[in-house]
Amino acid sequence: MIDEKLEAIYSDIVRMNPGELEFHQATRDVLDSLGPVVARHPEFARHKIIQRICEPERQVIFRVPWQDDAGDVCINRGYRVEFNSALGPYKGGLRFHPSVTLGIVKFLGFEQIFKNALTGLPIGGAKGGSNFNPKGRSDDEIMRFCQSFMTELYRHVGEYTDVPAGDTGVGTREIGYLFGQYKRITNRYESGALTGKGTTWGGALVRTEATGYGTAFFLSEMLAARNDTLDGKACVVSGSGNVAIYAIEKLTQLGARVVACSDSDGVAHDPAGIDVELLKQVKEVERGRVSDYARRRPSATFEPRAVVWQISCDVAVPCATQNELTGRDAAMLVENGCVAVAEGANMPCSPEAVQIFQHAGIAFGPGKAANAGGVATSALEMQQNASRDSWTFDHTEQRLAEIMASIHETCWLVAEAYGAEGNYVVGANIAGFQRVAEAMIALGLV
Ligand code: GLU
Repeated sequence: MIDEKLEAIYSDIVRMNPGELEFHQATRDVLDSLGPVVARHPEFARHKIIQRICEPERQVIFRVPWQDDAGDVCINRGYRVEFNSALGPYKGGLRFHPSVTLGIVKFLGFEQIFKNALTGLPIGGAKGGSNFNPKGRSDDEIMRFCQSFMTELYRHVGEYTDVPAGDTGVGTREIGYLFGQYKRITNRYESGALTGKGTTWGGALVRTEATGYGTAFFLSEMLAARNDTLDGKACVVSGSGNVAIYAIEKLTQLGARVVACSDSDGVAHDPAGIDVELLKQVKEVERGRVSDYARRRPSATFEPRAVVWQISCDVAVPCATQNELTGRDAAMLVENGCVAVAEGANMPCSPEAVQIFQHAGIAFGPGKAANAGGVATSALEMQQNASRDSWTFDHTEQRLAEIMASIHETCWLVAEAYGAEGNYVVGANIAGFQRVAEAMIALGLV
């Protein structure tokens, strides 16, 4: 429950940001953890750190005009919310999806501050995107949209300023078109200005896999803390995009059997274990749907409009989108014997769902911690770009595994220090907040 002194701060946030429900939810989640921190650190209140951290340093909103293949003019809205730069240049992905609004970008940007702090790497927090819907668009249309988007955004981007990357709807193809336009406008091959680049033109190996792999590593750390492993565990993963695919790949390599994944049309149930190579072929090469996967896989069935959490499992890994896993879904998972949940997506579990998991004593890894592997590997890409070096796959994956283990340890120890043993939500929120708060005080009132 929220601390009394923080209640007034939260009311102001709601009043100042009307209608931005996801942003309210994300700030509430952090504020709920901070009561004991402000009690121990009166200097945080003196410097108004919480109020400052909840107000973005800069918010950019711009028009993105472009022409579709029929020659018709289309107008979208572009966003970049530069939330906090106390620890390093603004860093965070771009999301292209029709559901993108300022409130969505702010919730994502806010989460990104703490996630990035938890990695221990020198990166601030930001997020951006557009309500552009890439579904069904040709390569040429995607390119024209990306070029128009960057024509406005470029003035805010830079290796020491703000370093965008991908998120939903933005992968290597889109980063390519964005980077090409940035290079053309600035006349600089500034590799460190964007991450998630193709591996032949400055991108880091493992960046594509990193968010999903990192989530699997985090799960394995959470289970290890309970003297358990992923070996033989039945897992259900939601989504079938970049995060889901590589979570499935690593979970399988670590001995688990992933029996389902999904998209907005329905669920592919595959009791024999998802064939990740086939899934990659369908999703990455053919840009198809999970129904196409199920059609081509003899052991799989496709259930239109089904809820993936109905399938009983030991481990649940929501990798689709915010608030996709409700209180009802959580109750069903607990009932079916689920022992661990890790958020591959950003805020996929509703507050009710998180509460149900915690009451049931299930290991619950919040996105800030569990999906930090993506942005951590982006920071490793920035390191390689700065030193004009490129590391091997194995070396980079090893670094990722170490970072995830260290995030797990930090969350564990901080939760323990605040009397909330095993509560990764409290651990992640406090550890992330404290790193940023200390830097903000050190940098003065800016
Ligand atoms: N969009 C990813 C996230 O939610 C990664 C951002 C990045 O690599 O900058 O953390």
